[in-house]
Amino acid sequence: MANLTTITPIEYLKGVGPQKADVLKKELQIFTIGDLLQYYPFRYIDRTKFHKIKDLHADMVGAQVIGRLTHIQEVGERRGKRLVAQFKDDTGSMELVWFQGASWLKKSLKEGAAYIAYGKPTVFNGQLSITHPEMELFQAQEKKIGNQTMQPVYSSTEKLKKFSLESKGIQRLQQTALEAVYQQLQETLPLYIIAQHKLVSYQKAMLSIHFPQDVHELNAAIQRLKFEELFFIQLRLLHNKQLNTSKYKGHRFDKVGNKFNLFFNERLPFPLTNAQKRVIKEIRLDTNTGAQMNRLVQGDVGSGKTVVALMAMLLAIDNGYQACMMAPTEILAQQHFAGISELLGEDIARVKLLTGSTGAKERRIIHQELEEGTLDILIGTHALIEDKVKFKNIGFVVIDEQHRFGVEQRAKLWRKNVIPPHMLVMTATPIPRTLAMTMYGDLDISVIDELPAGRKPIKTVHFFENQRLRAFGFMRDEIAKGRQIYVVYPLIKESEKMDLLYLEAGLENLQREFPLPNYRISIVHGKMSVKEKDFEMQRFIKGETQIMVATTVIEVGVNVPNASVMIIENAERFGLSQLHQLRGRVGRGAEQSYCILMSSNKLSKEGRTRLETMVRTSDGFEIAEVDLQLRGPGDISGTQQSGVLDMKIANLASDQAILTTARNSVITLFKEDPQLALDKNSLLRQFLMQRTPGISWDKIS
Ligand code: ADP
Ligand code: MG
Repeated sequence: MANLTTITPIEYLKGVGPQKADVLKKELQIFTIGDLLQYYPFRYIDRTKFHKIKDLHADMVGAQVIGRLTHIQEVGERRGKRLVAQFKDDTGSMELVWFQGASWLKKSLKEGAAYIAYGKPTVFNGQLSITHPEMELFQAQEKKIGNQTMQPVYSSTEKLKKFSLESKGIQRLQQTALEAVYQQLQETLPLYIIAQHKLVSYQKAMLSIHFPQDVHELNAAIQRLKFEELFFIQLRLLHNKQLNTSKYKGHRFDKVGNKFNLFFNERLPFPLTNAQKRVIKEIRLDTNTGAQMNRLVQGDVGSGKTVVALMAMLLAIDNGYQACMMAPTEILAQQHFAGISELLGEDIARVKLLTGSTGAKERRIIHQELEEGTLDILIGTHALIEDKVKFKNIGFVVIDEQHRFGVEQRAKLWRKNVIPPHMLVMTATPIPRTLAMTMYGDLDISVIDELPAGRKPIKTVHFFENQRLRAFGFMRDEIAKGRQIYVVYPLIKESEKMDLLYLEAGLENLQREFPLPNYRISIVHGKMSVKEKDFEMQRFIKGETQIMVATTVIEVGVNVPNASVMIIENAERFGLSQLHQLRGRVGRGAEQSYCILMSSNKLSKEGRTRLETMVRTSDGFEIAEVDLQLRGPGDISGTQQSGVLDMKIANLASDQAILTTARNSVITLFKEDPQLALDKNSLLRQFLMQRTPGISWDKIS
């Protein structure tokens, strides 16, 4: 087998063959021996510890018990069908329960045999049980590989199990693979970095991650592999950033002109906050360097990002360029258009709106004006990206609510001019620093960390269903004061019938409590046409209706300063960042605003933490941090598109310290050796050349 390497297709590994290879590819995306080796265990069982049944309790995360399996039987019908077995040792007995794969398991489990069962003990009605335990015949235990004490557990699937690729089977493959290619596993990190951070070698780490002899060895392997993973992500990101600033020439905005000044001195209806001023200055400096700018503005809801973007666009116009601004929804684009047109007045710049519902004739006019250069600012939705939209000379692009767009969309706007326009992307979803470093590691980041003066903090309360009458009473009082109210329902999937039913039932209820002609209610949801939605929004914006019943359509960006109450129904079903976004719809005027989180009495622990966090704080960054801890990075909005979070071993929620070390290490490295020309960095240079084919490395300066 000496000719196998990590890039050898998996079917050539002894014990795999075409069928297993096929299922490994389909189920786990394992194509090569190297892929297999990077399929790490997700957990380890400390095989030195066994528990007696009488010592089990519900607080244990997992326990290993040796016992005898008896009375295996299928109970229940159809969906309630499950497999139940008794499990006994010399101290007592408990139930083992499986809800999935009942028939298959019934055939494969041996009644009367001794097993090691592993799982989380639970107590229900005084009866101890383990649901979906991992089962291993007791005898098999003695044949375990290498006599380890920490036994790795690999996650498997039903399909894999049919090919004997349960955790044990995968472990056997790992052993074969390691035996075959161990000698060829090459160090990936420069030796001086390994020494600096006291890491174990790659070879050692790969062996220990699959076959640890003890906890120390395992921890050293995990530390090494996490560092490596985060290090290479940062290396790529910071390298890209370096490329962007050195490779791409940018338009130089070297003057602050009449339009910018006229707007600032005469039109701006409020003084800018210090944070707004600082970010505008950062943009001014960036756009005057001759390199293309890629900047992210992070600012909580209501922090006033729009006006910052507007002033940046005026800067572009003063320097002879056009600008555009893209928003994720039609409502939002319209609102930006209305707001910006009003702020600017007729004379400062010519602004138009382009969305999916712009008529053919208007569209033609817009296209023409853009190409002639008579249109200064174009605001719109995805419609802006279309190839037909050509600018005479676009110099500045704003993308609002960046997390709703993918990288590809950004790139398309980038290509709208020979020299790419400066890019300003804005997000109201504050994300923890570690996440920002990774998701947006190739952008410069500005933070608007200050709300305009005079905003009163929103008062947030959590009500259970039985406090609904109080909520209604409160709504009446607020409406009597001339305020307006949002009532938002979760419509996690716009297609889900149940959710729509909730909304309709809620609406009926509201219509009874707030009848015509004294009260008027608007309704907006995803099943309506853009026209209908717009009509209803407009009624609310103009104050013709007092209550806006909506689904999360209104989540991003909508601005109705007179609305002072946000009621969120089934609040426990929303994620934290969504709750935060929704709450940000109120508190935009001078009045005291309120947010009422309605929930059922039954709350999961996580649901309760979310609602408590909302009541406790309105600091978006703090909320984002809690969100990251609760859900992990994969579920934080926007992370899906970024791709970089597709990690094999590191976890941004728990590995912040390693990430910071890795990033700093890369920053130092690029400072010392921007081109990675030094011998000691040759491995890294090789890595990047493989990753970024087509970029001619030597031209970078
Ligand atoms: P977001 O950052 O959520 O996009 P917006 O740009 O929509 O916030 O601004 C929210 C509201 O605050 C708008 O009505 C805007 O006119 C107002 N605003 C922005 N900056 C200031 C300021 N410096 N002082 C007072 N009001 C401001
Ligand atoms: Mg906004």
